Amino acid sequence: MRRWTFTPHWSVMPELPEADAARRRIADDCLHRTIAGFTLGEVAHVTLPTEAERARFVGTQLTRTHRHGKYIFAGSVDGPWLHIHLGMAGSLRTWDAQDAAPDYARLTIEFEGDRRLTFRDPRKFGAVHLVEDVENFIAEKGLGPDAMQIGGNAFADMIGRTRGAVKPALLDQAKIAGVGNLWSDEALYRTGIAPEAKGSDLEPARIAALHRAVQDIMGRVMAENADYARLPDDWLIHNRTAGAACTRCDGIITHKKVGGRTAYHCPTHQTR
Ligand SMILES: [Zn+2]
Repeated sequence: MRRWTFTPHWSVMPELPEADAARRRIADDCLHRTIAGFTLGEVAHVTLPTEAERARFVGTQLTRTHRHGKYIFAGSVDGPWLHIHLGMAGSLRTWDAQDAAPDYARLTIEFEGDRRLTFRDPRKFGAVHLVEDVENFIAEKGLGPDAMQIGGNAFADMIGRTRGAVKPALLDQAKIAGVGNLWSDEALYRTGIAPEAKGSDLEPARIAALHRAVQDIMGRVMAENADYARLPDDWLIHNRTAGAACTRCDGIITHKKVGGRTAYHCPTHQTR
């Protein structure tokens, strides 16, 4: 199978590892190729670069990619950059002109020769923007440190100052960028922390374990290119069903709303 025809299925909102898999698709298949033009698909209700903005990329090359949390960027040293927001179900597909065009295509970059890069967005919650300066963009968005970059002390400080539930703190992109519903549940499951546990009540050793779990889990998902079938059998991802047997104790998986989001967890081994 050629790498650029690999199609993950996004059954959940993309988080950091899924965004990184999309970023890598650009890095592996689309850099240092001259942009010949763009084609637009069905674009109602989708935010895309204007015609004038697209024209700035024609004749140039994407030479680098960047990711911060769930945000991915492709551009060149002096800019401009494309920011691709995957939204609920967006994805990037790299393909060649002789292949069948992807469905749900909103924007396709045509490189000289056959290579194509398509932003697919079946649910239309994603967007592509022109960004002049990536660091300014991240600052204006108010994003916290990237979840793979945040150090143990900064993480402990952030959780320790959280008087509310730990799960919504992990999801707060202003506090830590890149963690979403799926992988926050996985990290809490691994460390035996209840999703509603108060951050300020957690002992330092548990916070340190949570920090390691977040980075271990996301690192593993990235290493597997966000192919969930390759993740270990004892992960919660394979058992996110009420009534499923817990893989870490004799408990039963259940779910409840915490901070407005559905948290899957095992009430037996996950404690406050
Ligand atoms: Zn359990």
